[in-house]
Amino acid sequence: MPADTSAPPLVAHWIQGQPHAGQGAGRSPITNPATGKVRAQAALANAADVDAAVASAQAAFPKWAETPPARRARVLFKFLELLNTHREELAHLITAEHGKVFDDAMGEVARGIDIVEFACGAPQLLKGDYTDQVSGGMDNWTLRQPLGVVAGVTPFNFPVMVPMWMFPMALAAGNTFVLKPSPLDPSPSLRIAALLKEAGLPDGVFNVVQGDKDAVEALLAHPDVKAVSFVGSTPIAQRIYETGARHGKRVQALGGAKNHMVVMPDADLEQAADALIGAAFGSAGERCMAISVAVLVGDVGKTLIPVLAERARTLKIRNGESAGAEMGPIVTAAALARIRGAIDEGVREGAALVVDGRGFDASLAGEGCEAGFWLGATLFDKVTPGMRLYREEIFGPVLACVHVKDLAEAVALINAHEFGNGVSCFTRDGQAAREFSRRIEVGMVGINVPIPVPMAWHGFGGWKRSLFGDMHAYGEEGIRFYTRQKSVMQRWPDSIGKGAEFSMPTP
Ligand code: NAD
Repeated sequence: MPADTSAPPLVAHWIQGQPHAGQGAGRSPITNPATGKVRAQAALANAADVDAAVASAQAAFPKWAETPPARRARVLFKFLELLNTHREELAHLITAEHGKVFDDAMGEVARGIDIVEFACGAPQLLKGDYTDQVSGGMDNWTLRQPLGVVAGVTPFNFPVMVPMWMFPMALAAGNTFVLKPSPLDPSPSLRIAALLKEAGLPDGVFNVVQGDKDAVEALLAHPDVKAVSFVGSTPIAQRIYETGARHGKRVQALGGAKNHMVVMPDADLEQAADALIGAAFGSAGERCMAISVAVLVGDVGKTLIPVLAERARTLKIRNGESAGAEMGPIVTAAALARIRGAIDEGVREGAALVVDGRGFDASLAGEGCEAGFWLGATLFDKVTPGMRLYREEIFGPVLACVHVKDLAEAVALINAHEFGNGVSCFTRDGQAAREFSRRIEVGMVGINVPIPVPMAWHGFGGWKRSLFGDMHAYGEEGIRFYTRQKSVMQRWPDSIGKGAEFSMPTP
């Protein structure tokens, strides 16, 4: 039978240093959210495909783990160089499959590159501790050794950056890796795999399995997978954490968010408006660090709400590839329907809908975008903590405004929320800022910074139901997550006294 030339191109797995169609017959469409057109299809791995990827990683592990850290770092240095050459290509792939505007996609690639730069310093990070003469003629040192095959399961919203929170650190530490990206925008994962190969990474050290739930379940149950890093929604994060732990694996599972930004009466309100508009509607609100709740202290709302409304109404919502676009489409038709449902629910609950994005005219988004997944920026006022609109993560361009009387009430409100990923406070008062950052029960805090994503060497992670596990992603905690500590005590025959010892030795 002749090959079906009308089928969209296949985004395959990457196993043993090459693309691999796999045995799983399932396929998942990859749509350009701006046009609504299917551009490719992702292979869906079955358990046999996962076995093949893990076997490839397992076979490559002993040699990679034995490779001196400085040589492993040299491969990452070369990879870094290639990433810098291919920044734009990766960003175009992100825009084509995720929909975010091209400049934002370039920013995502840049923040991923930050982590690769950090991982290049792994030889320093992997240095152990040494104590000379813990007892007569005896020394004690600690070293950190890689775990083996480790897996990363990543969300749709940062198809380049989030995998780079994981694999550069894991590889630098001497592990081999299996990445399971989101089936919605998997193409960058294959480009990354090819660039790693070009950088000189031995075959099998980095593998990709495309797929969804079945692939993840197979990774979680696989006895040769020693650790799993997950980033995605909270219900799945919790399941991954519990299932992984049941299978004896080390797990870090980063979940969802509802990030608040407090605006104090002494804040520069123009700056606060800029910050809220960018952080609520950038990337169509599909960021785990997006601001989805504005907490307006005192009567700040009187000035701020009309400004926010005007800015939300005039946002440039266009195909992410067009110059000047500020916000692109929603990732899928299903996500669009879900977000519209959340807006309907907010109206039913009695919140004041100041700007309604549901009526957005898709013809304004650009030529050929009529069938894309479009929604305008949406602003609610008079939102209260009992509403679902306040409690649940919407993950779309919807900003909810809540009013409180003072900073203490703002802190209590935020601390009572189930999520604790990011938070921000806009103020000119140093004492208020200090109190806020000390009292708030959230993992990442910004003072006059709306989206405080920590730098590569500080590590990323939320609190409460935004993170399951005890170590944050990347930074020094990343190295700790991907290694285990070993302690060695050593002495030589001349310093060993005669006779058996029956009591606890003391220095
Ligand atoms: P998601 O939870 O639907 O999917 C994440 C990953 O899990 C994907 O690879 C997906 O294929 C896989 N998956 C989906 N269902 C599964 C199941 N039942 N069992 C096992 N695996 C499954 O998340 P998403 O929609 O891709 O991403 C958006 C979510 O990710 C939001 O909740 C956002 O807040 C969160 N997120 C969090 C962070 C963070 O750092 N905390 C960063 C980015 C995104």
